Amino acid sequence: MEVLFTPWRYPYLTSPKSEKLPECIFCAAAKTKNRRDTLTVFRNDDALVMLNRYPYTNGHLMVAPIEHEARLYDSSDASLRALIRLTAEAQRILSDVYHPDGFNIGMNFGQVAGAGVADHYHLHIVPRWNGDSNFMTVTARTRLVPEDLDVTFDKLEPHFKKIMNE
Ligand SMILES: [Zn+2]
Repeated sequence: MEVLFTPWRYPYLTSPKSEKLPECIFCAAAKTKNRRDTLTVFRNDDALVMLNRYPYTNGHLMVAPIEHEARLYDSSDASLRALIRLTAEAQRILSDVYHPDGFNIGMNFGQVAGAGVADHYHLHIVPRWNGDSNFMTVTARTRLVPEDLDVTFDKLEPHFKKIMNE
């Protein structure tokens, strides 16, 4: 198995979570007036789409319900429908903007399974390119610098705006 090497995630993985995250990031994104502050490219009554602040690749998105639930089976039908609908829209938009060769789309439940925020479920969408796990490896003191998150926000947000009122 090839492993993505993402050194920029290291400060996140080693920071004390209780101090850095006073509130659930998804609930904060659901409430904020300034969506850019929380990197939220789309939000409606049932679900939202935000950029991952510590991306595995450019265009790494997260889709989450507005309701604070830890498990799919506690979630409302409206949330579940919105989640998969938005995942489909996000995959289409990422395909149009970034032209990836593939995607990893998935969910982790519980700390043991790798969930960074275990009590508000969310789905990761990670675009993949042929060879991305090779060129991201640290070699001769070079490393891939991910695209600035403001740039990613500006590329994706207009596409999500088009579906905002649909
Ligand atoms: Zn929450």
